[in-house]
Formats: sequence, structure tokens, C-alpha cells
Amino acid sequence: MRIDPEVVADLRAGSDGPVCAYVYDLAGLRDHAAAAVAALPDRAELFYAVKANSERPILDALTGIVAGFEVGSAGEIDRVRAAAPRTPIVFGGPGKTDAALAAAARAGVAAVHVESIHELRRAEHVAAGLGVTLPVALRVNLAGPLPVATLAMAGRPTQFGMDEADVPDALALARCCAHVEFVGFHFHCLSNHHDAPAHARLVLRYLARAGEWAAAAGLPPGIVNAGGGIGVDYAALDRPFDWRGFCAALPDVSDVRLRFECGRFLVAACGAYVVEVLDVKTNHGHAFAVVRGGTHHFRLPASWGHSHPFTVIPVQEWAYPFPRPGVAGGPVTVAGELCSPKDVLARDVVVGELRAGDLLWFHHAGAYGWSISHHDFLHHPHPAQVFLGARQRLRG
Ligand SMILES: *Cc1c(COP(=O)(O)O)cnc(C)c1O
Repeated sequence: MRIDPEVVADLRAGSDGPVCAYVYDLAGLRDHAAAAVAALPDRAELFYAVKANSERPILDALTGIVAGFEVGSAGEIDRVRAAAPRTPIVFGGPGKTDAALAAAARAGVAAVHVESIHELRRAEHVAAGLGVTLPVALRVNLAGPLPVATLAMAGRPTQFGMDEADVPDALALARCCAHVEFVGFHFHCLSNHHDAPAHARLVLRYLARAGEWAAAAGLPPGIVNAGGGIGVDYAALDRPFDWRGFCAALPDVSDVRLRFECGRFLVAACGAYVVEVLDVKTNHGHAFAVVRGGTHHFRLPASWGHSHPFTVIPVQEWAYPFPRPGVAGGPVTVAGELCSPKDVLARDVVVGELRAGDLLWFHHAGAYGWSISHHDFLHHPHPAQVFLGARQRLRG
């Protein structure tokens, strides 16, 4: 989302103390998601992986645009069902409890992505106990090598999915189970992949492997869920993932439904984390800006060890009768308010001018921002949550 001076003025006027807020552009989110859906080929559909950001206004904004929601826990099922009682849900994650499987069955999910043969047996056991049929897709940990991305869940030993070698046995077992219905295959192998042509080739591999396994078992391949993983290059926000090119490179499928479940790609751009600079100082020859907020609100840069991109918003007013500290031109490290040297949002970034009292607008903070952060670390007050375009303005 673009920096909007009116929003900045509103944030400053609405803050009791120094500004610290997540701001989300819901209209921009809806436009982006609708364009992403419109670019898909026939028989392909886009779900939203809610772990990227499951705030209610975000779910409300995407309901009716995406084909469904991907969840990873019973808690996420509840959040989605509260917002969208009838929208399809698919349920994944490597450690599902019986209670979570039962919750999925009761919620009428469109698919449970089973990650091992043991989990397939437990899905059958739970569904039989409830007297229902549970639709299941097999999550496969594809053999490598896979293209390079920030995170790899497959193509190497991980806790995710079943080994390719287990797939024939899993299919045979699924056929014999009275209370699970095989509906397809699931692959979520990479996260934050930037290379659109390589990602399209990877999806072709998924389709080919799924087709081979299904044919060998005498089953229709049904749904091929190609996961999420569409990347955001935080170091080059002006070069977004080529989603249109990616969609254009996908094959026309006739015998399968191709499903995507994207998190970051859908919601990263619609959110910003806006914080006020409390202090600027130099020690051991390095300049530091300390802000109201930090990695307890916005853990992504610490989690990935990157400098998160931001823009300095100059604030002219200065409330004190003594000089205003600042840096000009040189590199500055942006640190949060926590008593931890790891509380860093951006390191050695060259800025024009940055002074105490200015605001920093961290871009593309809509995915894996607040949702993955340890909010109550050190018990600082929470940021406000301002949802532009929501029917009711919500503040924290
Ligand atoms: C997290 C996750 C996603 C979304 O990943 P993104 O990289 O944000 O698109 C999709 N599917 C599964 C199974 C996940 O765990």
C-alpha cells in the first residue's frame, strides 16, 4: 500500500503516545486478490492460507473473492467459520490431533491434507467414530532437487508430507478405508519463491507426478493442490512476482482441478507497520534509531534476518525545548524497544535524514507480521489495528 498523508495524519492524531500501528488497505487487498483470481486459467482456483494473517477484516475482505481458505489448526477453522460459514476450507499441517481432525470433519472441510500413513489411519479412525466420510488429499514430500526459495518444506528431509515411496501404500490404504475419500494430492514445497517460470515448471512436475500415482492406482487424480510459496522480494519491492506470466505458463488441465493456497502473495502488500522514532544515537561508531515497537510486533525481519524495507516520514513538529537527535546520509540500524540486541528491524540502512519524532513506514508488512510475532514479550502496549475501508473502524 502507498503511504497516504491523510492516513499518517490520522494515525498521529489518533495515538495517545508515539505512533505504533499496523495499517491495512482492504480495498487494495480486494483489488489485488481479484486480479490474481482473474489471471488463473480454467479449472484452477485460489485459496487463501490464513496463517499469513487471520485478522477478521482480512478474512472478510477475501471472502467471496478467493475460492476458499487453507487452515492449519482447529483454532483457524473457528476463525474462518466465524467469518465465512459456507466458504470451502482445506486443512493441513504436520501435527493434527484427533480433536482437530474431528473439528475438520464437523466443519465439513473440502479436504484434509494427510501427511503420513499413520495420519491417514487416524483420519479414518476419527471419521468412523463420527460416522462421516472425510475427504483427504495426500501431502507428498517431493523428491528433490527443487528450485531455491527462502524456505523449503520438501525436496529434502523435513517433517512435512509423506515420502514419495509411501504414496502407493497410502493410495491402497485410502481405497480400503470406508470413511475417507481420496480427493487428490497436495504439494506445498517452497515458500517465498521469486522465479515465476521455475515455479510454473514445478507445478508441471506436481501435475505429472500426481497423474502417474493416480494412474498406477487406477484412481482419477482429482485435485492437485500446488500449495502457496509465491514470493515477495523484500529487497526489491518494485519487482513483484510475475503472477500473470506464471498463470500464462500453466497448462490447460482437463482431468484435474488445480488449486493454489497462497498466503504471503495475497496479503503482504496490503499492510504496513508504522512506528515512531523515540531516540537516535551513535555508539561504537554506528547510528541507531530506536522505535516504539519492534520484533515482538513484527518478527518477520528478525525471523529471516533481513532488513525490512521502510520509508522515513518526516514530522516537522518537535515537542521539546532541547535539540532533536538525528542522522543524515549515513547508515542507521533500526531497533525496537525490547531489551534484546536481536530486536532489530533493519540494519545499516542508508537514509536521507532520520530524526527522533519521525515515523518509519515498513512496507509489505501484511503477511507474517503481527500474526507470527510474540506480542506480549516484555508487556509493552499493543499497536493499534486500523483497517481502512472496513465498515467499522477498529482500533486496538
Ligand atoms: C504456510 C502455508 C501456505 C502459504 O504459504 P505462502 O508461502 O505464504 O504462500 C500454504 N500451504 C501450507 C500447507 C502452508 O503451511
